[in-house]
Amino acid sequence: DSKKPAFAFRETPRQMPSRIPLELRRSGDWSELYGRFGEAEAKHQASRCLDCGNPYCSWKCPLHNYIPNWLELAREGRIFEAAALAHETNPLPEVCGRVCPQDRLCEGSCTLNDGFGAVTIGAVEKYITDRALADGWRPDLSKVVATGRRVAVIGAGPAGLSCADRLARVGIEAVVFDRYEQIGGLLHFGIPNFKLEKSVLATRREVLEGMGVRFRLGVEIGRDIGLDDLLSQFDAVFLGLGSYRYTDGGLPGQDLKGVLPALPFLVHNGRLVHGDDEAHGKPIAGWEDRVALPDLHGKRVVVLGGGDTGMDCVRSAVRLGAARVTCAYRRDEANMPGSAREVANAREEGVQFLFNRQPLALLGDDGEVTGVRVAETRLGAPDAQGRRNAEIVPCSESVLAADVVIIAFGFQPDPPQWLSAHGIELESNGRIRVAQPTPGCGSRRAPATAALPFQTTNPRVFAGGDGVRGADLVVTAAYEGREAAAGIARLLLG
Ligand code: FAD
Ligand code: SF4
Repeated sequence: DSKKPAFAFRETPRQMPSRIPLELRRSGDWSELYGRFGEAEAKHQASRCLDCGNPYCSWKCPLHNYIPNWLELAREGRIFEAAALAHETNPLPEVCGRVCPQDRLCEGSCTLNDGFGAVTIGAVEKYITDRALADGWRPDLSKVVATGRRVAVIGAGPAGLSCADRLARVGIEAVVFDRYEQIGGLLHFGIPNFKLEKSVLATRREVLEGMGVRFRLGVEIGRDIGLDDLLSQFDAVFLGLGSYRYTDGGLPGQDLKGVLPALPFLVHNGRLVHGDDEAHGKPIAGWEDRVALPDLHGKRVVVLGGGDTGMDCVRSAVRLGAARVTCAYRRDEANMPGSAREVANAREEGVQFLFNRQPLALLGDDGEVTGVRVAETRLGAPDAQGRRNAEIVPCSESVLAADVVIIAFGFQPDPPQWLSAHGIELESNGRIRVAQPTPGCGSRRAPATAALPFQTTNPRVFAGGDGVRGADLVVTAAYEGREAAAGIARLLLG
């Protein structure tokens, strides 16, 4: 293809794909916010990469994707080769291209941030994979020899799917079990359509099935099948269980009508949006009493929490016709855990942000929520993770009026009882204990008996994703699933 212009980064400004109009979003359109690049746009944006020699973007990407290399292939129009290279490190490139907080990861480290605007890495990753898959590209497993080994993967979230993909590539049969009727875990049931359209997961399922991965959906391990059965039928097991224990903050008044935990709100709404008819009215495990969604039309909605989940709640409330949507967060904007891009989108859609506000209690009248008592905060000394604590400013209390309050304080692992019966130990915070991929590179302790990446204290069981690291990101779950598969392959194949 044509030679790359040396100063494309100066001549071509950074540009994201077009977004659906604001009026549509406010009037309840749930389509994916960002469109796709056309071929010319993708080539222009890819040509902005400086190929700086020591690519900080690749280092900062948890998967260490070969970013400059597939950008160059995209610029040259060699889409199938670009897709093959993207898949070498990333089992779910079209998903990560859509939902990674790129401003904190690859794009946040791009050299062009120094005055020119980062290369739109995520949008090109999405373009390459969507385009290649639509044009018929599929992972080439023609040289893979079946080993006769079989692994049960529990959980069809990004950790489990990534593990299954890597196992298939080395000739190990993966059977993926999930209690839900669709693959994707939180990709399907948590993350709203406006960030990730569910047809993307249907295509990925078809790709994985084409690679020989089998799915057994609607099957809960521990209820329908025991781990002992899996251990007797399979050579090894991978646990990609996720992290679902809701943190409620213990606020007085949290049982008032109109107070909702974030995930059931998003899950139930998502099911309505994607028309999972069979799931309508089905209680969501653990929240059987909270499935009835209030009508948000014309209501004042306050969302407590400033992470990705909080942003998905505020933006869903906008699409559900709320009259006013406010996000109250106890630290300042710079210390928000979520993606800055999502905050900017929420703001544009009309969400009001109240920073440095600590909720103290939910107020009610006749059993229904009427508001949130908050106090102002200032940032104090950093905690053990280096994040500055929010300290309450004395005599600064006020009340935010609300008809609906959504609590989005995050999630903790909720490890099932049956793990301990099989010698699988937990950390004190409920996370599954695993061996580190590289000794000494993390804070988690490696089990004394295991040396393979992401092996638990039961040598035939591996684990990864949110159940191991606590609620985190799709890309880190994909990384851990990928590395655990490498550990399983070493155990089974030497
Ligand atoms: P999960 O995706 O939770 O999947 C676990 C699966 O295991 C589930 O399908 C569950 O049904 C299944 N399972 C568990 N126990 C059993 C059992 N006993 N038997 C059978 N099946 C079982 N991350 C981003 O990078 N970007 C975002 O924009 C983003 N937005 C988010 C928005 C929301 C609302 C939430 C809640 C999270 C968001 N995240 C985001 C985080 C991301 O979704 C998770 O980090 C990621 O999905 C974790 O992957 P996982 O495979 O470990 O677990
Ligand atoms: Fe960036 Fe995420 Fe893609 Fe890595 S996987 S290159 S962090 S968008």
